[in-house]
Amino acid sequence: MNTATHTATTAAPAPAAQPTLSPNGAYLIRGASLLGKERADLLIQDGLIAAVGQDLTGPEGALVIDADGLIALPGMVDLHTHLREPGREDAETVETGTRAAALGGFTSVHAMANSNPVADTAGVVEQVYSLGLKSGWVDVRPVGAVTVGLKGERMAELGAMADSRARVRVFSDDGMCVHDPILMRRALEYVKAFDGVIAQHAQEPRMTDGAQMHEGDVSAVLGLPGWPAVAEESIIARDVLLAQHTGSRLHICHVSTAGSVEIIRWAKERGINVTAEVTPHHLLLTDESVRSYDPVYKVNPPLRTESDVEALRRGLADGTIDIVGTDHAPHPSEHKECEWAQAAMGMTGLETALSVVQATMIDTGLMTWADFARVTSAAPAEIGRVATQGRPLEPGEPANVILVDPAARRTVDPHKMATMGRNSPFAGLELPGVVRTNFFAGHPTVLDGVLNTPRPAAAEETPWIG
Ligand SMILES: [Zn+2]
Repeated sequence: MNTATHTATTAAPAPAAQPTLSPNGAYLIRGASLLGKERADLLIQDGLIAAVGQDLTGPEGALVIDADGLIALPGMVDLHTHLREPGREDAETVETGTRAAALGGFTSVHAMANSNPVADTAGVVEQVYSLGLKSGWVDVRPVGAVTVGLKGERMAELGAMADSRARVRVFSDDGMCVHDPILMRRALEYVKAFDGVIAQHAQEPRMTDGAQMHEGDVSAVLGLPGWPAVAEESIIARDVLLAQHTGSRLHICHVSTAGSVEIIRWAKERGINVTAEVTPHHLLLTDESVRSYDPVYKVNPPLRTESDVEALRRGLADGTIDIVGTDHAPHPSEHKECEWAQAAMGMTGLETALSVVQATMIDTGLMTWADFARVTSAAPAEIGRVATQGRPLEPGEPANVILVDPAARRTVDPHKMATMGRNSPFAGLELPGVVRTNFFAGHPTVLDGVLNTPRPAAAEETPWIG
């Protein structure tokens, strides 16, 4: 039954047969608008931004990239990606997921732990880390599970994962909530030793048993079991108090309700060390979509109401919500093209995130491109403790740089994406913003909007990968 999936995979974008590479590793970007502001040239050489300024000249042989009309941004960093490998290679692999990430403007992704086997040991996180190094499209950072097998019963080997080659700093049972307050408290205390963070999937399990969509007017009309906002908000309220009590770092995954934003605002005003994330789909879509019964709109947490969407946008704009995380969740077609009740939860997001955030936050006047760089790059890199990502576009910094055409528009077609997942809720929508070029550690992974070549597998201890 996997034939369809495999056929679709071969139709997805492949790297250019004739990659375009500078013979001496030097690239001169001409006339880009830095973070949507002043125009400048950028010289990229030996993996670093060598110079930023007017009328730069590169060394002989430097490849010149005309960036007229394009915005230069730091490569995006996703704190919430499901790459599915190991164990669910019928849904996505590190190779396909990171190709999608590069095309979407990312230079780093955090791979969630709900693989099979679960990433709850040093061995599994090192495997994912190695696969990322080998594929070379982006920097892959494994997330470690908080509890063994995501079962919520016993703490996983957090210290061993932190000390492993993968140097895990983000721990999450994402997909499942760490609902036991004692376990949550212990995990928060434990990760302090290595400056880690617990990323909580806030969902009270008893209140959401069998839930299919947001609990509200639409669920009442459709007769589908509802997922109350309070199931998310009550866990967030508890966890910010636990974070205050332990003095630990807490991150809230995919905040989806107006009430959650209020609780996080309250916690931040009190100096509690909490950060929060919103997905692109929760910034754009509402539970009205579910009236179609199309399972492409089935997701956890569920799509909420118009007033929740407005609160999430305001929260992201005013800094209550720190980052955008995609929650990219590819599924094989047979898990989505079925009845609503049987369908898997989740949506793809890597190749549409930039466009959706531009449409909802920038083109609406709520944020600037500099704000965009903060919420999609600097802040997630800081939360994940990825020192080489989310850096300013300045000389001496690692060359993780993307060029974006904000005036271009395109109609979303999941069949033209690099992800194996065809479950994009934005299919058929016309959205603004196209990623033209992506430099990962000074290497052009994407040129003219198409995959070029991955960064060659190099010694992993190079200074711009560390
Ligand atoms: Zn989740």
